[in-house]
Amino acid sequence: MNTTTLYLHIPYCKQACHYCDFHFSTQRSTEAAVLEAMHAEIATRAQQEPWKNSRINSLYFGGGTPSFLSANKLAQLISTAQALFSFNADAEITLEANPDDITPENLEAWHRIGITRLSIGLQSFDNHELQSMNRAHDASHSVQCLEWIADGPIQNYSVDFMYGMPGSTVESWKRQLDQLATYLPPHLSCYALTVEEKTVLYHDVRSGKITMPADEVIVAQFEALRAWALVQGYTHYELSNFAQPDKYSRHNSHYWSGQSYLGIGPGAHSFDGEKRWWNISNNTLYAQRAAVPSEKLTLIDLLNERLMVRLRTAKGFLWKSDVPVGLDQALLDTVKQSVQKSSAKGLLKSTEVGFNIPPEYWMQSDAIIAELFLSPDAD
Ligand code: SF4
Repeated sequence: MNTTTLYLHIPYCKQACHYCDFHFSTQRSTEAAVLEAMHAEIATRAQQEPWKNSRINSLYFGGGTPSFLSANKLAQLISTAQALFSFNADAEITLEANPDDITPENLEAWHRIGITRLSIGLQSFDNHELQSMNRAHDASHSVQCLEWIADGPIQNYSVDFMYGMPGSTVESWKRQLDQLATYLPPHLSCYALTVEEKTVLYHDVRSGKITMPADEVIVAQFEALRAWALVQGYTHYELSNFAQPDKYSRHNSHYWSGQSYLGIGPGAHSFDGEKRWWNISNNTLYAQRAAVPSEKLTLIDLLNERLMVRLRTAKGFLWKSDVPVGLDQALLDTVKQSVQKSSAKGLLKSTEVGFNIPPEYWMQSDAIIAELFLSPDAD
């Protein structure tokens, strides 16, 4: 039986962070109807291939802010999923939680309902950075939640942390990493703050109210992060992800492997191995069971997607397992030539079994990967 992953999108947040372009709402009036539709969607998808005959290896509550939902409602979703899908005995159940929702009582409640891993939206220890991004927590929450987790029942957790924050320097970033070293979370996801259109941050940057750090500062922060993480015993296994031994994110690793995944809830995406689809990013219309558009991926789309996700990982792209079955030999030869060219420039490290991007070039990975893409019309 194949293994797969289940993602449940909880589209509610206490307040809107200024950089965020995920699907969420600060209005909870649709909550009951959305949850009802999610239970129904789980029931429908559980009857369909490939999930009918797959085992769930990881269930992930993302959002939005899933920790905003009561433990009782989270438990009901877990029960529905466990009743309708086959779960591996050691399946990981991850809850994204914001620091201001983390209390000793909630940690106990989440443990009781079967949550085995937390992903904490900590982002920073700096009050000014947290306030300027309109996060719902402050620096004292950032510290307090890590202390409660250290004494709590869920010891497997990941911390989301952000560099490239307005006003930050390489030195201020190193101070934040020093503070994180006190706790050494089992897993770290560190992202450079990006300015997405239609966000408050985008308008603040355009109007000159906020100035982003220079690119060289962001690259130096990334390099400082990588050096710090290696000294602290982390494996840098993907552009933005670092794990202590055996603490890799099962859920993300599954995405990067190119296998099927199922997303439930408003805005969630799914892929069944050939076709992908996405639920509408609107809570009211999702609750009314709006139509779900889908597209079938060509072999070229599949190859380009695998290049995109695999080359952000340390493992890289493997010729034997990552080339889509049935891809035309002439197209494969074109990719091999591009790989040779980039390898000659030192931008790829190539062996007989595959190729990867050396970590010192990971910050340029988008441009390096784009050179390898096949044109959608190449067929
Ligand atoms: S809590 Fe997360 S999902 Fe909600 S607005 Fe902030 S970044 Fe976006």
